[in-house]
Amino acid sequence: MRSWSWEAVSSRLQNTLTPGSCAPLLPAGEYKPETLSQASDNLDTLPVTVLKGVGPRIAARLQRLNIRTLQDVLFHLPARYEDRTRVTPMGAVQSGQQVVVQGEVDLAEVRFGRRRSLLVRISDGSGALTLRFFHFNAAQQAGFTRGTAIRCYGEARGSAGSLELIHPEYTLLPGAAAAVMEEHLTPVYPATEGVHQLTLRALTGQALEYLGGEDGDGALVDWLPDGLVRSFRLTSLPAALRYVHRPPPNAPLELLAAGRHPAQQRLAFEELLAHHLSLRRVRQRTQQLAAPAFSGGQALLDRYTGSLPFKLTTAQQRVVGEIQRDLSRRHPMARLVQGDVGSGKTVVAACAALLAAGAGYQVALMAPTELLAEQHYRSFSDWLSPLGIDVAWHAGKSKGKARAAALQAISSGEAAVAVGTHALFQEEVEFSRLGLVIVDEQHRFGVHQRLALRDKGRVHEQRPHQLVMTATPIPRTLAMTVYADLDTSVIDELPPGRQPVKTVAVSQERREEVIHSVRKACAAGQQAYWVCTLIEESDALQCQAAEKTAAMLAECLPELRVGLVHGRLAAAQKETLMASFKGAGLDLLVATTVIEVGVDVPNASLMIIENPERLGLAQLHQLRGRVGRGARQSSCVLLYQPPLSETARERLAVLRASNDGFEIARRDMQLRGPGEVLGTRQTGEMQFHIADLLRDESLLTFVEAAAAQLMELAPDNVAPLIHRWLGQALDYGEV
Ligand code: ADP
Ligand code: MG
Repeated sequence: MRSWSWEAVSSRLQNTLTPGSCAPLLPAGEYKPETLSQASDNLDTLPVTVLKGVGPRIAARLQRLNIRTLQDVLFHLPARYEDRTRVTPMGAVQSGQQVVVQGEVDLAEVRFGRRRSLLVRISDGSGALTLRFFHFNAAQQAGFTRGTAIRCYGEARGSAGSLELIHPEYTLLPGAAAAVMEEHLTPVYPATEGVHQLTLRALTGQALEYLGGEDGDGALVDWLPDGLVRSFRLTSLPAALRYVHRPPPNAPLELLAAGRHPAQQRLAFEELLAHHLSLRRVRQRTQQLAAPAFSGGQALLDRYTGSLPFKLTTAQQRVVGEIQRDLSRRHPMARLVQGDVGSGKTVVAACAALLAAGAGYQVALMAPTELLAEQHYRSFSDWLSPLGIDVAWHAGKSKGKARAAALQAISSGEAAVAVGTHALFQEEVEFSRLGLVIVDEQHRFGVHQRLALRDKGRVHEQRPHQLVMTATPIPRTLAMTVYADLDTSVIDELPPGRQPVKTVAVSQERREEVIHSVRKACAAGQQAYWVCTLIEESDALQCQAAEKTAAMLAECLPELRVGLVHGRLAAAQKETLMASFKGAGLDLLVATTVIEVGVDVPNASLMIIENPERLGLAQLHQLRGRVGRGARQSSCVLLYQPPLSETARERLAVLRASNDGFEIARRDMQLRGPGEVLGTRQTGEMQFHIADLLRDESLLTFVEAAAAQLMELAPDNVAPLIHRWLGQALDYGEV
């Protein structure tokens, strides 16, 4: 007789956490549950339609939640919990609490205020509360007669003495019947249109009955071998599932809400393991592919490093060594180079390019923005032309003769190195013998893109080697999960003589002073950036704002040569401007965030960032990395618009306190979540049911070891485990 008025409120309860498009990494055909066991009651094959109340219509809707089998139902895990197991006396209710209260109706009336609402006064002897409904019908209103017993569930708002429950769920309790309370904490599931909480609760309830005994001998196979479960002291799988779907009334709500209960952690661990294993398989498959082994590039490499005005740092040398070893093998390299802003990743990329060119193969270097690609084109031309290596340029915007000439040079093989944007991988670009693909500063690039790129560069049965350089360095444990398909190198050292950028936060109210400091710095021969940010996504608005600022600054600082660069300028214009700034032909460069990554002008030592509160930490760190590239002490002024929110204040404080990209990325993830920081592509492929990359970092440290154990003890369990967590839509496949 649990007659909570579900239908009326379920839409409100529906969680917005609908799982995103999950694109698992297991190629189609890899694992077919049907072949695994003849037993017809295996939960990974039993369709949801065996459950009561699931016909074709509901089954179709459940597919939107990626639920097809009983196993899928069991692994559709609650997003949160509500405690409806006990009644709270009204006198003890506090604002902000989610409570069940029970009492009698004293009074019901319709108020015509700003919004028409139905107010129902209830009391239980210990105190009184008001229920407020904005949507109600006459029948509902008529039900609230004085003296009727009622039970409600909702969140209390307001202050003591005048607490309200807004649109609570409620049940009228006819007669004096004491209604049965919920026995468990109430799970709230990720839902979708047409599949309500009540349905999901009923389905999980039924599916749990199929689960079998505590010892795990039921119809759901635990793919983790005993030894592994014991060595990591994991809760048994059936017990964990039962607990998370139906936590007992005395369950520690806070622990559950935080996702840190051992039952949740067991599942989170398994999920992280499944993701890690799926990426490991991608890596294993790479090892089975063929690639050209490069040899004979050493002489060229030595000539290049000898021509540089500096010596490679020990870290750079080590990473070049790692790349060189990979490139000498007959299988495609898949390596990620992580390094903080300014650690010198470009030079490392050039070394890799030379090893390929020296072996007679072509290199494609791809940058995320045209501005950065142009800059790389210039550096690579300067570095490589003297060594007799031709460099071509190709981007979406290249036109006419220049474009045709570049395409011709690339397809004839005359250009050993092609630099550009993602346009390099469009149909019309044909390489004569591509051997290496370098992707610079591209953290918003998921495993699917990496694989597609590799397959596009395929020549007969040979795939090109791949080097990815990331703009956002992340902690090792995290990298092992997100980038487990790649080998990782870290440039953990900055070139000598670098001084950390001094960072200050200054209010817009002191803008005059800031302008004056720009005047002083430039008078002393320094160069400065003035970065304009806007929330608007619109390119046009961004550029407009930058134009205004540039005009204003030119007026205030007539003695300075002021330039302006933004995304709407033609490629040639941008190039001229950047070259002019680099050659000290400009003192002050006003820019939009187009200069965020990669731009390298060592003489620039002052940066003003307007409205830094609008940007993420990692992005600010990247921007700031445009200064502090020479030996001079550099500064960064965060020119904020007061008043600052608490988070914004915290973010700016992190930036003032630290110059370490790893640390900053960490804090950024805490403040904004890994999805925002790592980029949608990267994490879009990583939709977790229960794991959380940040919260479960301590689990991540064990995932690698557990994966090794599993592959050793029970290699056949790997595929079904991946299947269990990453689902049915197996669509990545080798293109
Ligand atoms: P990032 O890792 O941010 O891409 P860059 O490759 O742009 O860094 O290098 C930053 C600056 O440091 C460049 O001006 C580059 O020429 C210089 N640089 C790179 N390696 C060294 C080194 N070993 N010693 C001194 N300067 C270096
Ligand atoms: Mg770079």
